[in-house]
Amino acid sequence: MRAKSAAWTAQRTRVPAFTWQPEVDRDRIDRVELLADVDKALSNDELFVEFQPKLEFATNRVVGAEALVRWMHPGMGPLAPSQFIAEVEGSALAVRFTAWVLHRSLVEWVSISPPAGTRLAVNLPPALAGDPGLVPMVEAALIASGAAPEMLEFEITERGLLTPSNVLFANMAALRTLGVNFVIDDFGTGQASLLYLRRLPVQAVKIDRAFVHHLESDVVNRSIVAACVGVAAALHIDVIAEGLENHSEVAAAIGLGCGFGQGFRISRPLSIGAFAAAFGPEGTLHWR
Ligand code: C2E
Ligand code: MG
Ligand code: MG
Repeated sequence: MRAKSAAWTAQRTRVPAFTWQPEVDRDRIDRVELLADVDKALSNDELFVEFQPKLEFATNRVVGAEALVRWMHPGMGPLAPSQFIAEVEGSALAVRFTAWVLHRSLVEWVSISPPAGTRLAVNLPPALAGDPGLVPMVEAALIASGAAPEMLEFEITERGLLTPSNVLFANMAALRTLGVNFVIDDFGTGQASLLYLRRLPVQAVKIDRAFVHHLESDVVNRSIVAACVGVAAALHIDVIAEGLENHSEVAAAIGLGCGFGQGFRISRPLSIGAFAAAFGPEGTLHWR
């Protein structure tokens, strides 16, 4: 494995093969250690989930929340997903990890008896979306938590749909039949074919934060968001703007036709208790 890494590096950097390169080895060891730590974290209850509300602008109602995983690492303290999620998603741990997030977040979601029609959104690693074990895993989590399939939606990044397999089509169709929704996450960043978008059972696109930034004044971002809204309208699907950080961005997103929003200006990700407490009487959120 060490020789393989060195040869691979040599190909890329044109240094003689098989010279031992400590950095390459350290990367590999860090990765192995990280994954061993995640494995332990799953058993030791070091991971937890926060919930970030998604708001429908027209009604000011919370239509659901996105489950976002966090890790209280015993040695390193709190870790954000960006510090470990890519490694996990690219490893054999992805299945166990996703099953954990799905089960834990559904159990917490059900515990607050959310208003009818609201949904919990869970991020689905691209590799798992096309895994034959996905549907049984989801069914098991639904049964164990007592959640109805209509309470759940999956966010899949556009990159995960670049070359959809037959299994992915079959998985999405089967879950859709049960009542699970699908949202394309980070829309605009992954160059997924519009043809696939048309063929896949997708109910919404979530416009990447990069395009929402300074939406009130950035003319390029305004054009991109307007184009996304146009594509979504042609496909009769919803548009969510994510990463809304201030009032100007919220107003611009509404003005450009985004029906739904998510971001720090509306609410930070919250513990399930704080999330439940933020609801008004009819599922409205006091955020303005
Ligand atoms: P994402 O799915 O696009 O999630 C949105 C990210 O944007 C979250 O970061 C959220 O905290 C952050 N965010 C929300 N509103 C704002 C805002 O107004 N401004 C800014 N600057 N950021 C905002 P987080 O929690 O660090 O997650 C990062 C990514 O890690 C997520 O991006 C998702 O791709 C991945 N991730 C998180 N939880 C899970 C999980 O349980 N499973 C998998 N497979 N991936 C996850
Ligand atoms: Mg997401
Ligand atoms: Mg996103």
